[in-house]
Amino acid sequence: MDTRKIPLFCYWNGCIKDGPDGPFYEGSSPRGIRVDSKIELSNLLDDLHRLTGFEKGKFQIDLIGRYPSIVQQQMVKYVRLPIVDDCSLEMMLEVPCYHPSINSLEVYLEIKPFSDEVTVSISHQSPLESNVPRKRYRQEDASSVNADVNVSGRNTKLGSPPEDNHNGWIEDEESTDVGNSGDNGVAQKDSKMKKPTLTEGVSDSVSKQLIFSSSWLDESELHVGMIFRGKDELAKAVKLYSNRRQREYNVFEIPITGTFQSGCKNYCRWFLKAAKTNGNGFKITEYTGPHACKPADVGSDFLAGEIECLVKVQPSLSIVELNNWVKEAFGYTVSYANMWKAKKEAISAILGDLDKSFSVLPKFMAALGSSNKMLLEWQYDLFPDPKNASFRSVFWAFQQSVEGFPHCRPLILVDTVDLSGKYPGKLLVAAGLDAENSLFPLAFAITTQEDLSADTWRWFFSCIRKKVTQREGICLILS
Ligand SMILES: [Zn+2]
Repeated sequence: MDTRKIPLFCYWNGCIKDGPDGPFYEGSSPRGIRVDSKIELSNLLDDLHRLTGFEKGKFQIDLIGRYPSIVQQQMVKYVRLPIVDDCSLEMMLEVPCYHPSINSLEVYLEIKPFSDEVTVSISHQSPLESNVPRKRYRQEDASSVNADVNVSGRNTKLGSPPEDNHNGWIEDEESTDVGNSGDNGVAQKDSKMKKPTLTEGVSDSVSKQLIFSSSWLDESELHVGMIFRGKDELAKAVKLYSNRRQREYNVFEIPITGTFQSGCKNYCRWFLKAAKTNGNGFKITEYTGPHACKPADVGSDFLAGEIECLVKVQPSLSIVELNNWVKEAFGYTVSYANMWKAKKEAISAILGDLDKSFSVLPKFMAALGSSNKMLLEWQYDLFPDPKNASFRSVFWAFQQSVEGFPHCRPLILVDTVDLSGKYPGKLLVAAGLDAENSLFPLAFAITTQEDLSADTWRWFFSCIRKKVTQREGICLILS
């Protein structure tokens, strides 16, 4: 089996923000570790508990990966990938294989106590406890990790000898910061201040098996060994899994044995059986998947929800690209028309609908007027009550055009364009001609009138005369 070490930059004590390229981390410096490309999530979480000092059993660490969703030459767009099982972790760790330009990965840690009791004990820890030298527990960690490796079948099979720092630290903590943001010193100090004491003999009550929270990753395949907090969470996971794949399923519960079974309604091979654990949890004991049957019809509203975050990151994604993504993610094909409708719905969800966009246009024009010295003139239809008016036309010209026109030929060309769509009307465009006989944009107007009245023409030319040029002897050419 081919494994290699992958640099993983871990961030915590800050917050995840969204930028033009997707999520990024603000407020702390990363700590770098090197992990096996085939590491299991439970082992990685053990490493992260040691790295952060947040005691396993008292604190839960949720992981969000910065996953490249679109990689095109120099441009990379990222999405948040919740890492909740081995499958999603594998997806993250495979990134450098598929994108050689990305040779390190970033994960964001969300750390929360399992109970309020713990929070209280942290705030009241004695200064002595909080000053336990880090070196000491690093040594303890090393021995406990060695024990883990001997137990782990995967590592034994690989035959990799236990190394002193095989648990993945790149270097000592002082030299691991890559410092892409913020003040390293402050962030380090801060993380130490918030760090609870790492005691000896970490409680074994939390097993190596992963307990799923409500952030269960619905995109991943289910598998034997997955543990859920209770029957409700298991049922939710099955529902989410099935909805995502547009498959119907039946559930059978056997109260005597306490087992939960679910099978495909189309009687394909898909089958899941889960049994109660010692606590109130449920563990998948048998699983056959994925579905071999065809999905039910996929509605555009469902698709719109699925593609929304992709469209938000890159609105220019074509229908074909989106269809390919759905095929890859969920295994079914969608018609072009359906995806077109879904993309339209997703854009509406992100940007608002046409009415909303139209209503913010006056604000937008005013902003352009104040920031870019754009010249503006509005025309309204008035109602008997002077408080009410409705939009008729707007005229605008850029200051640069006004300043450039004296150097153009004494000529103005005017053309009109029909505006179709939800708000019909006309666009009027006036242009000059420069010394090289190239068009020089001068002024624009939009009016709700589909048939231009003499009044509207008069208004348009008076705006040009008033705001753009007072030159005499200009030749005017109308389309
Ligand atoms: Zn099926």
